[in-house]
Parts: sequence; C-alpha cells; structure tokens
Amino acid sequence: MYIRDTIAAVSTPPGNGGIGIIRVSGSKAAAVCDSVFKSVGNGGLISHRFSFGAIYDPLTGNKVDEAMAVFMSSPKSYTREDVLELHCHGGWFVVEQVMASVLSCGIRLAEPGEFTRRAFLNGRIDLVQAEAVMDIISSKTEYALKLAEQQSEGALSKCINDIRDLLLNTLALVEAYIDFPDDDLGDTDIAAITATLENTQRVIADLLLTFEEGRVIRDGISILIIGKPNVGKSSLLNCLLNENRAIVTHLPGTTRDIIEETVNFDGLSVRLLDTAGIRNTDDIVEKEGISRTLDKISHADLVLAVFDASRELDSEDLMLLDAVAGCQIIAVFNKSDLQEKLSFSNEVPFLDTVRVTALTGEGVELLKQRIRKLFLSSSMFDKREFIALSKARHRDALVSAGQYLQRFSSSLQDQNLELLALDLRSALQALGEVTGQTATDDVLDLIFSSFCIGK
Ligand code: GDP
Repeated sequence: MYIRDTIAAVSTPPGNGGIGIIRVSGSKAAAVCDSVFKSVGNGGLISHRFSFGAIYDPLTGNKVDEAMAVFMSSPKSYTREDVLELHCHGGWFVVEQVMASVLSCGIRLAEPGEFTRRAFLNGRIDLVQAEAVMDIISSKTEYALKLAEQQSEGALSKCINDIRDLLLNTLALVEAYIDFPDDDLGDTDIAAITATLENTQRVIADLLLTFEEGRVIRDGISILIIGKPNVGKSSLLNCLLNENRAIVTHLPGTTRDIIEETVNFDGLSVRLLDTAGIRNTDDIVEKEGISRTLDKISHADLVLAVFDASRELDSEDLMLLDAVAGCQIIAVFNKSDLQEKLSFSNEVPFLDTVRVTALTGEGVELLKQRIRKLFLSSSMFDKREFIALSKARHRDALVSAGQYLQRFSSSLQDQNLELLALDLRSALQALGEVTGQTATDDVLDLIFSSFCIGK
C-alpha cells in the first residue's frame, strides 16, 4: 500500500567516499530543507538549482557539515513528489549525522526501492522501467547496460503496450456483440480479429525468442573449469583473468576450494569457477573440494574440460567426462606447446575443441571468442536498438498471455463470446503484469525488496 508520508535515505553506498547524498521525498521535503539547511546566499531555494550552505542539527542548532542542497518540486522529480537532495562530505559518520538531523524532522527511513516504487505508483515509470533501474545499477558489461537502458527508456514497454492496445480494441468489439446477443460476429469482424490475433501472437513469440540471449546479457553465464589435477586449470584461469589469481604449482591437487571470479569477455559477463580436480583421494580437504565441484556441475552454463594434451587419455580423464555427462562442454587441450599424445577414440560429447598453451596464453583469445559466440549472436548488437526480454518474470507472463490467445484463437469459430472475452481479459491481465498495470502488491513487494536502500 502507498502511504503518502515523507521518506528519507542515504542514496550513496555505505562507507567513506567523496560525497554522500541524502534523499528526501514527500510533502514534508520543503519543511525538512527549512529545518536542516541554511543557504549562504539570500532568498530561498529555487527548484532544481543547487544551493551552497550548511546542514544544522535542528534539535541542538549545531552545524553538522557544509553541503549543497537541491530541491525538486513535484511533479518534476524522480518520485513525482517534492524531493530534496543534500550533498555533504562522504564519510560514513558525517553522513550518519546528516541523516539523523533529517530524521529528527519527523519523517521516516525509506524502505529498499521505495523512491522507485513511488515513481512507479505515481505513474512516472512503469514496472519494466522500474526494474530496469536496478539492472542499470548492477550491469557489468556494455551490452547489459545498453539493454537495461533500452528497457528504462521504455522500448520493451512500448512493444507490450502496443499489443495490449490491439487486444483492448478486440475486446471492445467482442463486448459490443455480447451487448447485442442477436447478432453473430460477421465474416469481416472475424477476419479482423484473426489478423490482430496473428499479429499479437507473432510479437509475443518473437519476444520470447529473445529471452535466452537477454538473460545471458543481463545475468552473464557461469563456466566451470574442470580437469584432473595438474592439467593446467589454474594457469588457464589466470590467462582468462589476465592475472595471477589461482595458485599454480607442479604438485597435483593445489586448488582445493572453488575459486570464483567474474570477467568480461567483450560484452559477455562470465563467472569463472576453477574447481578442485576430480580424482580418487583420501585427503579430507581435497575430498570436500571435489564434492563441491560435483555440486556445481549441474548449475553451470558451460563446462571447460581441461586436458593435458601431452599425455594419453587415462581413467581419471574418463571419470571426469562421466561427471560432466549431459553438460555443454568445450574440451580444452592444454600444454599444446608439448608433443600431443591425447586422443579420443570414441564419439565425444564436446561442442568444440580448442588447443591452448596456458603457460604462454597462446590460444586463449580464440577460446574466449568461441565461448562468446556460443552465447551471444552478434546480429542482436548490430541493431542500434534491440528489444529483448531478460527476466523470467516477463517471460512467464508472456508465455501465459500467449496461451490465453491460443485458447481464444481455437474457440473463435464457436463464437462463444463470453468465453472469448474471458480469454482476452486473461491475456490482457498477463501482459499488464509485465508493465505493472495489473501487478499485485505481493509482486511489487517482491520486486522492490531486491532494490538497494535509497534507490
Ligand atoms: P591445475 O592443478 O590443473 O590447476 O594445474 P596448474 O595450473 O597448477 O599447472 C600445473 C603445472 O602445469 C604447472 O607446473 C604449470 O606451470 C604447468 N603448465 C600449465 N599450463 C601449461 C602449458 O600450457 N604448457 C606447459 N608446458 N606446462 C603448463
């Protein structure tokens, strides 16, 4: 529920920084400004203009910090309410003091995402755009940022609203016939409705096709590096990261825990997990590492199965292949600076095989490109604007909208108008869940609780 009280929060990250920003939103924002901020110039604050001055504790009258203040009067603000921003020095203690002064004016601390929730409830942005705000903040690659910005600017919302409008017109037509029960839908109306239906179903199907890639762009992928001890997994990880993160030694079994790093492969965010080698061992610590590796296998988007190409395939390699059966695997033949002895006699389940020398980094760039190509089609980025679904919530709603339209389409010939109207309303409801027109409070709570405080 939306309570129209005034809220405040620190909008900059916790810890020490250059500046700290405290944001206030609600009808008391101007009164808070009067109570805590004194401008050095004459006259009051002008909306949307920065003013230099100082913050004072309204209870003691003591100066807390020098600051800049900007007041943004409703409706031209992030939340469409009156908003005040106080920019003070960025030490955690001073920010806390300014915040205490602000809260002493009888307003409350904002909940996570509450500013953005107000922007949504006041109609400044829809739910897709609100969610995109968080995606902008958490994006790790240029493409993730671009996708989030497109959604924030309303590209996906427009696409969904366009099909909603078409379906609303169709619903109006069907309802008109319900009001005149003696009339049957004429051939022209049936043809028009069928055309609309085909059009909307096609748009929904096209959007659903973008989901896998959209998800990969937004969330990135996880890659498990797996292989016998000493085949060069840590060396490969270091090459992929361009740094010495994993310990490389000539003793088998040195990577005992799982090392996890995120790296950007030219627009593809990749979580690399270097694992303990899989082998029969009595070492308790190593056994634990191996058990964690086996746990992770099922969750990885891709497995890099690393082999020492200078040695013949042995039972340990085969054990490893058994463990990753069913996964998407790229075989990495490492140590290709040495004479190659590795060969696979049977049909192997690899998507690809790449030869590298992790010692020098040779072949690693090619490996990165092959991985990238598996998950990102370049055609999407050739377009200046690309619209893609990136959230399971959106995908699920579109799947159910598509199912209602399918039902509608198959019962169109029977002309049971009440049923047709019901299916259309259900499809509209599902589409409205994406943009927020029909999202319940529970859904909103779930979405905004994942936001940071102050956003
Ligand atoms: P891990 O146990 O699988 O993580 O293997 P490491 O990365 O610790 O490497 C094991 C040993 O193989 C080290 O002595 C590395 O220097 C060596 N090594 C790794 N990659 C290569 C390579 O491409 N060529 C050669 N000749 N040796 C390598």
